Amino acid sequence: MQDPILQPGLRTSGPMPQVLSPGTDEVCSCGQPWSAAACERVFSQREQRRPVLYGISSCIEVEVQQLRCSCGTIKRYDGASDGILNLNNLDLFSHELLEE
Ligand SMILES: [Zn+2]
Repeated sequence: MQDPILQPGLRTSGPMPQVLSPGTDEVCSCGQPWSAAACERVFSQREQRRPVLYGISSCIEVEVQQLRCSCGTIKRYDGASDGILNLNNLDLFSHELLEE
């Protein structure tokens, strides 16, 4: 379950991240740093498939993570720091693709 299933021939020349997690350089609204929050994998019960990151010439299955602060607030992965648009935690698009 931990290893993404990669289809040979679908990889791009450039590296694409396979585990996507929110940045921890900010603080929660409660004041605690996100670096102290629990990191958990996002898994959709409704969509029985893994998240997919779409690039220019390929797509790969990825793991999307989110941070859960001890106060209960969840910080979702928005992809901005990685140049990725996170549509719904299931479909993610490389900005390279969007600019084509
Ligand atoms: Zn908090």
